[in-house]
Amino acid sequence: MEQHGKSEKHGAQAQRQGHGAQASGGAGKLYVVATPIGNLGDISARALSVLAQADLVAAEDTRTTGHLLAHHGIAAKLVALHEHNEMRRAAELVARIEAGETIALVSDAGTPGISDPGALLVARAMEAGLVVCPIPGANAAIAALSAAGLAAPHFLFYGFLPSKSTARRSALESLRELPYALVFYEAPHRVTECVAELAATLGGEREIVIARELTKLFEAIHRCRLDQAGAWLAADPNRQRGEFVLIVSSAQAEAQEGLPAEAERVLRLLLAELPLKQSAALAAAITGARKNELYARALALRDAEALPRK
Ligand code: SAM
Repeated sequence: MEQHGKSEKHGAQAQRQGHGAQASGGAGKLYVVATPIGNLGDISARALSVLAQADLVAAEDTRTTGHLLAHHGIAAKLVALHEHNEMRRAAELVARIEAGETIALVSDAGTPGISDPGALLVARAMEAGLVVCPIPGANAAIAALSAAGLAAPHFLFYGFLPSKSTARRSALESLRELPYALVFYEAPHRVTECVAELAATLGGEREIVIARELTKLFEAIHRCRLDQAGAWLAADPNRQRGEFVLIVSSAQAEAQEGLPAEAERVLRLLLAELPLKQSAALAAAITGARKNELYARALALRDAEALPRK
């Protein structure tokens, strides 16, 4: 296994970036380092280099990060920074950076500050005029979006919805009409309840992508209509286990295009083989989309794409 050590300090790091000029005299820097969301190989060479060279690694859970560092042959000094001590720890770490130390901030998984601690330390460092450098990498929401196949040009990252039903419902009401795909994080013990609430509030005809255990052994990505998602989860208890990103298609996409993407896909497949009316009826039965909308879309497709009249 490759050993990353202090001796590399002036290699990759020195040539890295134009941030070079230090903000205040001999101050060090704060690096915000993304770590894997499952597969320990999902970490950049630059992140490993920074972690190996840092004077101190501030970690949400020192055991979790210790495991990652050991896997990559890195011996680093670790200190805990989590939601319960971030305020106190931030002042301490800022003082150390001002004194010239380089500190790498990591969370348990993915990108610090994204539904994870870190924002407060970054804010304090910026207030102190220190240099803050992001080291980009894994993030569950972006990984899920990249494999979701939703054509929406815009998305809204919401993160965790409130755990209480009333607060969750009102949060969802405020999102219902937004013309963006909506991206949520959810815990396994709440996923079934959450999906039911999404369907009830946002509308069962919208599409959902359920991205589970990304980059891990039991990774699964399932796409269906929102009102079919509960049944899909219930069909196998394993589908309710692990970590989840839920993505709901944009409200405007539905309004503009009229049909969910899955209905469009099925309709096109059927139209290639069957008469128009039969294609629309079958597509409606398969996808749950409205037959008259499918029929209208089939007519439009036939005219636009000069499909044979069957
Ligand atoms: N900072 C992380 C990031 O950049 O994605 C998110 C941390 S947040 C505390 C943890 C939540 O992210 C999980 O409850 C789940 O919703 C989502 N998540 C993290 N890892 C995941 C994975 N491998 N597959 C699916 N979702 C994941």
